[in-house]
Amino acid sequence: MGTEITVSQAASPVVVSRLSACGIRVTEQRLRIASILLCAPQHMSAEQITERLRREGARVSKATVYNTLNLFAAHGLIRQLSVDGDCAWFDSNIGPHYHFQDEHTGALKDVELSDVQFSRLPEPPEGMEVAGIDLVIRLRRRSNG
Ligand SMILES: [Zn+2]
Repeated sequence: MGTEITVSQAASPVVVSRLSACGIRVTEQRLRIASILLCAPQHMSAEQITERLRREGARVSKATVYNTLNLFAAHGLIRQLSVDGDCAWFDSNIGPHYHFQDEHTGALKDVELSDVQFSRLPEPPEGMEVAGIDLVIRLRRRSNG
């Protein structure tokens, strides 16, 4: 009845090949972290991933998790979101999309590009072009229930 999750159980061959495809050297720790984040389209903070790893019995510091996530993001395996100043969110969905964010919990939800239409954008400054648009639609509970 052991609840400890070993790397061989946690890491699918798909995760291993995705790390390799991004040029990331595979280590046990990186596999564990990638397996947690990549198992679904989701948004997680370094804190949440650290907590999960500790529940699974791993001894790991938040700094290590954060550095690993930054490495993943730098290699294009995941996307780091800059949606609020306090907390870095990491997104396993690297395709283009926008976000809803719950103002209270910070939780993020994907919004399809096709669900948003911009009717007017400012001209970029001389010599510049638009490289991308980030959109975060902040949500709060309706006060009337
Ligand atoms: Zn997302």
